[in-house]
Amino acid sequence: MTTSTVISNMYADAKTWNPFKGCKFDCTYCIPSFQLQAKRQMHTCSNCYSYTPHFHPERLSKIPSAKTVFVCGNADISFATAGQIRQIIGAINGYNRKRPSSDKTFFMQSKQPSCLEPFLKLLPTNVILLTTLETNRDAGYNQVSKAPVPSERYRQFLALEYPRKVVTIEPVMDFDVDVFSQWILKINPEYVWLGFDSKNCGLPEPSEAKMKDFTAILSNAGIPVKGKTLRGMDLPGVERHQD
Ligand code: SF4
Repeated sequence: MTTSTVISNMYADAKTWNPFKGCKFDCTYCIPSFQLQAKRQMHTCSNCYSYTPHFHPERLSKIPSAKTVFVCGNADISFATAGQIRQIIGAINGYNRKRPSSDKTFFMQSKQPSCLEPFLKLLPTNVILLTTLETNRDAGYNQVSKAPVPSERYRQFLALEYPRKVVTIEPVMDFDVDVFSQWILKINPEYVWLGFDSKNCGLPEPSEAKMKDFTAILSNAGIPVKGKTLRGMDLPGVERHQD
């Protein structure tokens, strides 16, 4: 399969639900995106404004009607307490019980995916777990984020005994094709999101040749790759989506 035409906006019929918000991983590329959005909350919640991790229990019952819900999309849920995570999962299960025919999908994402391990048995089948792996390279990663380095994050995500996983490779950073592709094959996600840094934060980026080799390996292994912000590259097997 070759690169397709633009087929959808990844955020079409998707909403973020933030009963928990904020993060201390300080990814450099988050500042012009999620953290900038949070500045709109100046008059409503000072913790939202400063992106300080905090709970909004009053939002537990306000699950958006969208088909796709990013659970705590403006946060890293690893900063929530076990009790808060239980309440969030409880709200999802309550929603499902009231609407058994709903085709809604919930995405739970963390850059410290081991935080979800104690709760795996509580998750309904319409929850997909995500982690971001920008690269396989640990060297210099502490200049980009305080989150667990990529190799540790990979190990944590691989170790989760859960059947539904997605990997976000965005913003992609320079990587080693052999190591990185083997990581993804071992995780065996339902699909992969792939995209360059849309905010142009100056991250080290892979060449087009590497991107082609990498996406060809995933595609040949039957792992769908959904691309956005691809800098005009024609990558084998990649479905192109709008930002
Ligand atoms: S882990 Fe996510 S929410 Fe936290 S700083 Fe990084 S991009 Fe932002």
